[in-house]
Order: sequence, then structure tokens, then C-alpha cells
Amino acid sequence: MARRKYVVGNWKMNGVTASIADAQAIFAAATEHPGVDVALCPPFTLIGAMVAAAPGAAVGGQDCHSATAGAFTGSVAAPMLADAGATLVIVGHSERREGCGERDADVRAKAEAGLGAGLSVILCVGEPREVRESGGAIDYVLAQIAGSVPEDFDATRLAIAYEPIWAIGTGLVPTVGDVAAMHGAIRGALTARFGGKAEDMRLLYGGSVNGENAAELLDAGDVDGALVGGASLTAAKFVPIVAAAAALR
Ligand code: PEP
Repeated sequence: MARRKYVVGNWKMNGVTASIADAQAIFAAATEHPGVDVALCPPFTLIGAMVAAAPGAAVGGQDCHSATAGAFTGSVAAPMLADAGATLVIVGHSERREGCGERDADVRAKAEAGLGAGLSVILCVGEPREVRESGGAIDYVLAQIAGSVPEDFDATRLAIAYEPIWAIGTGLVPTVGDVAAMHGAIRGALTARFGGKAEDMRLLYGGSVNGENAAELLDAGDVDGALVGGASLTAAKFVPIVAAAAALR
């Protein structure tokens, strides 16, 4: 099965009610590129409003708790995201791994919770700068994959986002060769563990993707799309990335 291109915006802790107009503009422009799956992950507070304002659009959460309900003040469960109209969730973003102390086992449990709630999951991995500089990036990321990818899942609903931490929000990007090498290594590890179904899993690149560099990064081997932070907040910045994905296939 051919993997469709997938371009996902992570709004992080940005956006208020007035920002829904930006989401509407993005989703409206994305209809010009029907060959690309486009999704936005706003803060929890905007999910319901975004779903209502853009019926049928793919809207997701940026995190979920591993439990389905309970005494977890401030957390949101995966079934709650689904109830709000979300169809996907990001788990294991480096800003949560690093800032909130999430370990691979936590990320795996969150991925299982998201899949169990019927959501698609984008599971993030990526190495810090010192690991890249010491030559250990592939081993580091493959260890994250081994520890955080669940054992049993529908491959069409689990995507991996390779996001080198040093590239997020910095304007720095790896070489196309380094992206292709990492994605090839991830695909190889997934195939070794899961066999043919790994071919159905989409591998996204994330880290300072913008309208200028998207075509080159998306064309790297085994890259099926992009997870985009800063350049996903407005149609003017985000739609050129979607267009670059559309032009590839
Ligand atoms: C991200 O946070 O997932 C991300 C890729 O951010 P940015 O595009 O801003 O580097």
C-alpha cells in the first residue's frame, strides 16, 4: 500500500479563539492538495472549536495521559480527545520527554492509550545535539523506538516523527543525507521487529521545516511527511509545506 504524504502542524502552547480563523484558512487551502493528509494539533482548549469550525478536518492533541480517566490533575485522557472530535494525538514530543521527564515506557503507554481510543498516533523520537555530535544519533533513536513503540497496533494509525532536538525551533536542519540515513535506520528497525506491516507506517521528519526547505527534506529517502511547529501557525507559512509535499507525488 502506497503511503500518503502527511503534513501535521503542532501549534504547541500557541493559539486562542481568534486563531481558529488561521486553522480554517489552512484547512481550506489544504483542500487544493487532496493527495496530502493535513492535520493540526492545537492546544487542548481549541480542539473542540477547531473541529466545529472545520468539519471533517483532522484535528489532534499534543499529548494524552496513559490512563483513560482518574485523579490526574491537569491531564487529558485519550478518550477525552476523541470525545472532543480529535482524530490523532502526538506522543513523546521532545518538549515533553525533556521538559516533563517522560521516559520511553511512558511514551509507549501514551501511544497505546491513543490507539486504544481509536486515535491515530504520531510518536516522536530524536537525539540531543551532543549525541548527534558524538556520532551516536542512530543508536540513540533506535533505542527510543525499541522502548516506546507498542507491540501491537494498526500500522496505518501509528506514525513515527524523527525530530532531532537540536533542530526544533532553531532554524538548523540535518543534511538530507542524515535525514535519509536516520529514516532508513528507523524503517529497518521497524521491519526487523514487525515485518511487512512496517511498510505501512509513515515516517515524518520534524525540526525547522519551512516553505523553503520542505521540498528538499520531504524528498529525502523514507520521509513520508513533516511535523511542523513554528511554521504551522498561519496558512501563509504552512500551506507552502503542504504544497511541497503534494508536488512530490
Ligand atoms: C516541533 O515542535 O514538532 C517542531 C518541529 O517545531 P519547529 O518546526 O518549530 O522546529
